[in-house]
Amino acid sequence: MATPHPKTERTLVVIKPDGLQRTLVGEIIQRYERLGLKLVGMKLLVPTASHVKAHYNLDPNWKRIVGEKSIEAYQKKGLKAPYTDPLKVGDMVIEALQKYLTSGPVIAMVWQGAHAVKIVRKVTGGTEPLTSDVGTIRGDFVMDSYQMADIDGRAVRNLIHASGSVEEANNEIKHWFKKDELVGYRLIAEQILYDVNLDGLLE
Ligand code: ATP
Ligand code: MG
Repeated sequence: MATPHPKTERTLVVIKPDGLQRTLVGEIIQRYERLGLKLVGMKLLVPTASHVKAHYNLDPNWKRIVGEKSIEAYQKKGLKAPYTDPLKVGDMVIEALQKYLTSGPVIAMVWQGAHAVKIVRKVTGGTEPLTSDVGTIRGDFVMDSYQMADIDGRAVRNLIHASGSVEEANNEIKHWFKKDELVGYRLIAEQILYDVNLDGLLE
């Protein structure tokens, strides 16, 4: 099978409850929209705890990776992490995420466009708002850190979930959307973004 063109790539974005409560929905959508990405699915819902758990269990390695990432973040700051076993951190984080993501409505969206997964991650910023780059959504709008979350025994509040890889995106989109909730359509701007010859502009 031919490799799909990068412009057909799709990614899942979930605006978490803090994003809605801080009235950042418009701002967040604008960041993705102005890149040229196309919104092909969107809904507002309060997810159940089991839906959230299943979402983070889609990748069997996620628990370990989230633990390793958290420990490394402490090390990078020259601090000692309050835990050592990555898998235990994973268990703790998944519990905290279930509370966080079921605390209020979220907005689930599917965005499509060139390198959608990587582009959305870049604009969203790194997991920990304290160290997310300036100019990213998490870097510009949140002050939270692993330390704060650990002291208070809760999830890091970082406004958004965004798929980490194309494979993750495909699985997550299926987890959040039925096929008929996604709409395939042509966006007029795509002519400028993707047309090979840019012909037909001049009268
Ligand atoms: P997301 O998957 O939400 O887009 P991410 O891929 O940047 O974010 P993950 O490593 O997949 O981050 O972690 C998922 C979410 O779990 C984070 O966005 C954050 O809300 C929360 N989280 C991660 N590590 C910790 C931790 N050590 N303590 C508390 N919460 C955490
Ligand atoms: Mg992730």
